Amino acid sequence: MDAQRTPLVVANWKMHKTIPEALRFLDAFLPALEGLGAQGAPGVGRVVEVAIAPPFTALQAVGARLRSATASIGLAAQNVHPEPQGAYTGEVSPVMLSDLGCRYVIVGHSERRRHFGEDDAFINKKLLAALRHGLGPILCVGETLEERRAGRTQGVLERQLRGALAGCPPEGAERLVIAYEPVWAIGTGVAASPDDAQEGARFVRELLRELYGEAVAGRVRVQYGGSVQPGNAYELMVRPDVDGALVGGASLDPEQFAQIVAEAAKAVQAKG
Ligand code: PEP
Repeated sequence: MDAQRTPLVVANWKMHKTIPEALRFLDAFLPALEGLGAQGAPGVGRVVEVAIAPPFTALQAVGARLRSATASIGLAAQNVHPEPQGAYTGEVSPVMLSDLGCRYVIVGHSERRRHFGEDDAFINKKLLAALRHGLGPILCVGETLEERRAGRTQGVLERQLRGALAGCPPEGAERLVIAYEPVWAIGTGVAASPDDAQEGARFVRELLRELYGEAVAGRVRVQYGGSVQPGNAYELMVRPDVDGALVGGASLDPEQFAQIVAEAAKAVQAKG
């Protein structure tokens, strides 16, 4: 693994947790993280970066709590509108997210592509806007089961990446995180095999190399996402091109999410 890549493990809570529920999660998660370190899980919170993406309504409360925590945990938003302000009822701008102290924002999640009709061009606008306003985009790409069965996985990933990255300069690209999330693995309990996760991440990096050259491709973190659990996290994240995970369901539980972070730290050690 490239020594410069610190894996990133992100909790995507989707449309879950009120403010009190979010704070209860942190009450359990922060000590659990410290406890794992005390039990010898190597470098939890140091060799692995952690971020939490609560729903918009809990961003401020979670952000305030994270700022007062000892561990440095990033705040992430689940969505953003490309415009800085304007007549877009119900939307949240990148300026507002920066103002709240967000470090990251998820763009291109398959649930937004599927349920809200977001296409590559719109995702591209969001990604560029996020970068302009100091946010790190976590760009999700991945194929459906139908596309995989038709042998179109690489074609889909290439289309999604080229579409989302149009006009993105190298200095923006190196601030990206890309989550390879096969759609058929999200929320199904059936994760990709470690080989398939590695192959997806490798292909993403190869395309980054073609677009931006070796140095940028070597710096961008490529996560795996799709039914990551404490029991499969290590085998997925130990693969050379997989730099952490985007975690949905299992991130709702503080103990499970802390365990996944610990597995990421073990994977770092194993990769040397
Ligand atoms: C996700 O929401 O990006 C995700 C990977 O969800 P889950 O872990 O539940 O499959």
